[in-house]
Amino acid sequence: MTATHCPYCALQCAMTLTPSAGDTPVEIAGRDFPTNRGGLCRKGWTAAELLNHPERLSSPLIRGDDGALRPASWEEALERVASGIRTVQDRHGRDGVGVFGSGGLSNEKAYLLGKFARVALRTSRIDYNGRFCMSSAAAAGNRAFGLDRGLPFPLADLDTADTVLLLGSNVAETMPPFVQHLAGARAAGGLIVVDPRRSPTALLTEDGAGTHLAPAPKTDLILLLGLAHILVNRGWLDDSYLAARTSGVESVIRSVAAWWPERVQAATGVPADVLVRTARRLADSARTGSCYILTGRGVEQHSDGTDTATAAINLALLLGLPGSARGGYGTLTGQGNGQGGREHGQKSDQLPGYRKITDPAARAHLATVWGVREEEIPGPGVPAVELLSTLGLPGGVHALLVHGANPAVSAPDAAAVREGLDRLDLLVVCDFFPSETARQADVVLPVLQWAEEEGTMTNLEGRVLRRRRALRPPEGARSELWVLHRLAALLGVPGGFPTEPREAFEELRRASAGGLADYSGISYELLDSGAEVHWPYPAGGGGTPRLFRERFAHPDGRARLVAVRPAVIPDGAAALGRDEFHLATGRLLEHYQSGAQTRRVTALLEAQPEPRLQIHPASAARLGIMDGAPVRVRRSGTGPFAPRLLCRAEVTTFIRLDTVFAPFHFADGASANQVTEAVTDPVSGMPEFKTTRVRIEPVAAS
Ligand code: SF4
Repeated sequence: MTATHCPYCALQCAMTLTPSAGDTPVEIAGRDFPTNRGGLCRKGWTAAELLNHPERLSSPLIRGDDGALRPASWEEALERVASGIRTVQDRHGRDGVGVFGSGGLSNEKAYLLGKFARVALRTSRIDYNGRFCMSSAAAAGNRAFGLDRGLPFPLADLDTADTVLLLGSNVAETMPPFVQHLAGARAAGGLIVVDPRRSPTALLTEDGAGTHLAPAPKTDLILLLGLAHILVNRGWLDDSYLAARTSGVESVIRSVAAWWPERVQAATGVPADVLVRTARRLADSARTGSCYILTGRGVEQHSDGTDTATAAINLALLLGLPGSARGGYGTLTGQGNGQGGREHGQKSDQLPGYRKITDPAARAHLATVWGVREEEIPGPGVPAVELLSTLGLPGGVHALLVHGANPAVSAPDAAAVREGLDRLDLLVVCDFFPSETARQADVVLPVLQWAEEEGTMTNLEGRVLRRRRALRPPEGARSELWVLHRLAALLGVPGGFPTEPREAFEELRRASAGGLADYSGISYELLDSGAEVHWPYPAGGGGTPRLFRERFAHPDGRARLVAVRPAVIPDGAAALGRDEFHLATGRLLEHYQSGAQTRRVTALLEAQPEPRLQIHPASAARLGIMDGAPVRVRRSGTGPFAPRLLCRAEVTTFIRLDTVFAPFHFADGASANQVTEAVTDPVSGMPEFKTTRVRIEPVAAS
């Protein structure tokens, strides 16, 4: 029996794998652990089917002269990659080659992928799919606290909360075992869910368990400014905390003065008395009970995502929560290693240890660990959307190495990304399934899955976990560490790329030492001992389950309140043209990310075989759309040949009149990202995934 963790989301539920003689090579059971307490969702229960799936890649593939992918030896495939890289870099310079990583890679892979880009390729062009997921909350956390760790406290701390304000997160569907940590708040009537849909999580507030607020699209920031206004106006601030532990409160007090409840009601549609009741509940709970404010992608995946997350942090600071024993602020990381994936050097602007790539001390430290000269480490690259929107164009990359990601489906304006992938001189994809991106590749390299190799992951509470090998990988597949080792050697950089995860982790420890995300005191032995290990964990010290108890990570030890304001003041539904809607994209219980894995699991695909567009009955009636009927969704202002989302309608009162919702797990014409736009938050590079203006047409039966 092997103790490990789920291959999917950031809750990283603990499970055991037992060899099986049945249809799958192992049997999965939930394992008791502080986060999931034995619970798994249906994705976790069925994950074993991935391990011996008939579509599993077990041989490298090379695109032949006939345009088809054909099996090849590892030698031939790697030589093709190395010679392709050399050709592109000769022609376009070092930055002609890019790397696209993932929040699903283990810490060891994320670390060595960043090192590979900067030391073997010496390119600045590396970023990862976490840019689509966590970037705005990470930027806001760094701005306010000087440090970004999703939850700066153990998840189990939520158990004692009597109030939880959950903004833009549908945990009941995305990570169901999380819901048990909301039981205390629900029992106290204090679960407050902000979501334009009556999502499964919003339904948890019913029967006296709390309140559901459904603000108009693009008004989350205004809602938060309005709540802050009420706290200020009623004198419900924690003045002694603000004086002792923060700076910038005066500017925030001034900035929220313009957002009185009736004005916020006019913009958001949330009644003024509900706003006042909500603010009172937060203030009472922060003073006498336990209160937490949590954000998710619903309020973060916007072109003002960093400012919106900042407004949520401001609210928490006004209440005196972060770093206190009475609650806190946190953001709920989505991808399995979304946290570790952004700490070890996959981001275009960061080096391992969560260090800024422009910081001379950070560069000097990494130069020593990597055995290179400081000036050889490239400077900042470009964020993911810019990397992907300039593929094969002047100034863009002409070769791309993709590891554990499927941008052909997951990136905004995915049809344009697919065109860009086709323009490349060389596209290399490391994956274990023929994802949509892999199908476009020149070279596909089959790699190992979650239960076939050792490694570590860092969950949504900054807890470092051990993934363990439970079975032998198929003949022909190789670990990503081996791939990087071999490629580096072929590119003339023979040392420094260990193939053993434990060895890679030892180097990661040294690379992170002294950084914000310091792993230098963590070892496989420590993790295997069952110790609770939260970073920062410096050598000779201990872990840090609860951050900010004494001081924040800014040099003066104070948290910063930062005044933010909406870029445009929307006017509710009136901002839309006739028959226009806001398209929000999101997740379903049965699927994960681009669906490259979960669409291959029989039970999950049977339960959710295709996307459904949620639309309000009144809107559907006006457009002549019946429940279950096919519809075509196109971005407003696009021409007749622009990419469309083709799917069936789900007519439901659970959505606002001005909004429609589509899941993003499906591919080709059923991909919601056919319609989303490559518009980003200027601070973080986060794409706007939640309010694309669309028009909807019924599709006539043929
Ligand atoms: Fe747990 Fe997430 Fe895996 Fe579901 S997908 S079992 S919630 S880790």
